[in-house]
Amino acid sequence: MKEIVFAPGLTERIRQVYEDMERGYDQVAGRLNFSCDGCPDNCCDSWFQHHTFVEWGYLWMGFDQLPTAQQETILERSRLYIALSEQALARNERPQIMCPLNENGRCLLYEHRLMVCRTHGVPATMQRPDGKQLDFPGCFRCQELVKNTFKDSEMPQVPRMERTLLLRTLVKLENELMDGKRHLYPRLKLTIAQMLVAGPPKITMPHCER
Ligand code: SF4
Ligand code: SF4
Repeated sequence: MKEIVFAPGLTERIRQVYEDMERGYDQVAGRLNFSCDGCPDNCCDSWFQHHTFVEWGYLWMGFDQLPTAQQETILERSRLYIALSEQALARNERPQIMCPLNENGRCLLYEHRLMVCRTHGVPATMQRPDGKQLDFPGCFRCQELVKNTFKDSEMPQVPRMERTLLLRTLVKLENELMDGKRHLYPRLKLTIAQMLVAGPPKITMPHCER
């Protein structure tokens, strides 16, 4: 289908930042004795929007490698996802629809999944570029575990994944992808379904060959 290829150095550094994420996640999960084993839920139906072209492009690099018939099926699911989520949003409801990349509980693009997919489960903190401090409680199951393990007075000691450095690295890669001209591109707020239906990001900078 449409091809997007990042320069090899950039691709490698995206892989590295994703590996760092997984290590950070595993450390916190290990300290909390938390895992997804036996979970009755699948958080791939959680509503998230994503904000970087670099993650969008990397997702598409994975999507490009799937057989055409499978791509068509996923795109069909993505269009349905978009229509249903628009209906839910119009009712002022938060959409809860299975991600079009999830098939029988499995992520079809596991190696290319996005930061939110990799970090959602455990508690985390992050300072946004504008200085605002964000606190993520983790998924409902991890929140229960924390509640049953820590007294209220012990909450500050709950292990948390620190996402700030990871986000800064992603922002750096994003800026590099766009040759320092990120400010010339629009702000992004897309679901995975929208990223797939829209096609690969239109970037005309030297770190991206199309
Ligand atoms: S992150 Fe939480 S909700 Fe999602 S599968 Fe794992 S345990 Fe279940
Ligand atoms: S990209 Fe994969 S891990 Fe992320 S929500 Fe979709 S199916 Fe789940």
